[in-house]
Amino acid sequence: MLDYFLTREQKIIVEVARQIGEDYIKPYAHEWDEKEEFDWRPIRAMAKADLFGIFIPKEYGGLGFGTFENCLAVETLSKYCAGVTTTFAASGLGAYPILIAGNKEQKAKYLPEIAAGRKLCAFALTEPQAGSDAASIKTTAQKDGDYYILNGIKQWITNGGIADIYIVIALTDPKKGARGASAFIVHKNDPGFAIGQKEKKMGLRASVTTELFFSNCRLPKDRLLGREGMGFIIAMRTLDLSRPGVGAQAVGLGQGALEMALHHTRRRIQFGQPVFNFQAVSHTLAEMAAKLEAARALVYSVARYIDSGAKSISGPSAMAKYLASETTMWITERAVQMMGGFGYMREFLVEKMMRDAKCLQIYEGTNEIQKNVIARELAKLDQEG
Ligand SMILES: Cc1cc2nc3c(=O)[nH]c(=O)nc-3n(C[C@H](O)[C@H](O)[C@H](O)COP(=O)(O)OP(=O)(O)OC[C@H]3O[C@@H](n4cnc5c(N)ncnc54)[C@H](O)[C@@H]3O)c2cc1C
Repeated sequence: MLDYFLTREQKIIVEVARQIGEDYIKPYAHEWDEKEEFDWRPIRAMAKADLFGIFIPKEYGGLGFGTFENCLAVETLSKYCAGVTTTFAASGLGAYPILIAGNKEQKAKYLPEIAAGRKLCAFALTEPQAGSDAASIKTTAQKDGDYYILNGIKQWITNGGIADIYIVIALTDPKKGARGASAFIVHKNDPGFAIGQKEKKMGLRASVTTELFFSNCRLPKDRLLGREGMGFIIAMRTLDLSRPGVGAQAVGLGQGALEMALHHTRRRIQFGQPVFNFQAVSHTLAEMAAKLEAARALVYSVARYIDSGAKSISGPSAMAKYLASETTMWITERAVQMMGGFGYMREFLVEKMMRDAKCLQIYEGTNEIQKNVIARELAKLDQEG
């Protein structure tokens, strides 16, 4: 409803993403969800439209835009299917560590392939015993002359098996814990690297989530990103940059649910009139719209703040992810309720949206962890004051 004064280029990104959503996602979203099926068609369409290069600098073949433009694409695509968008966004998540810490050779080697969408990325931090407590990872990377030998297991990794490039956080100095973690670039075909089974999920079922196994996986030393010991810092900076994208995913998904509920309630006749005419229904839709717009405004502001080159982005980034995903969980649940039994039936995508929304409160750090981050930043402000 609001005008966010997008530039011509930003409007083009939205329009391109919308067209991909209409042509390559909308007709199949229900089927992919039912069959838990990943499909390359929308990914190829995004690649052809250069969407994978949105925030990659022009010198590496990207479009040279920032977090905000990426959020616009993610938001627009998520209205059609947050699962498909997870594949897109997770590839961006895997590209950030190379942008943040890659040397010239690494950037020149990997970024053009990523920007062109020829190679998808994945970001592998989580392990069976290390979720929120990411510092308790056990995967090791032992130095052996000009090589590192990786051993361990990563769990619930988006794009496992379909990505060619994996950013893996592993311990080069286990005694030091998080300060002994380093970030590595692993190729899909590296010996000693294997992909586990595809997980069966509640939502985001058009995306692929798997385990990754490392068994004496031998990497040349030029696969190290940054320096030894920087892995945890790279991972946290990556999440700071990507979390507004989860917020944008929530905003797009919420928009889809709102529009579906609006369309249905204005046509569903009970007691001789559209149920929208009952104030209990129209007020709920009004609340959905107002809360969604507030979430969108926050996500856009945070993304623009990041693009301004601001240094302290952890708190704002966590706020965008937290508030937008909570809002959309509520919106999708209300959308199901306002549509009654129709909302509950799998034929109507709104129940899928509710299942998809749940994960946005969990991945890239649960919303409890986002509140920990926000609280930590608040405490710092109080100290400074
Ligand atoms: C579909 C999907 C895709 C994913 N993709 C990736 C990926 O690509 N790469 C990757 O590395 N990871 C990925 N993850 C993992 C995801 O980031 C973790 O699931 C998430 O960080 C939470 O960890 P956990 O599931 O182990 O929950 P736990 O850490 O076991 O948390 C359980 C509960 O305890 C709460 N809790 C834990 N610690 C605290 C605390 N200190 N304060 C308050 N509450 C706390 C949590 O909020 C949660 O409610 C994915 C997960 C899913 C579901």
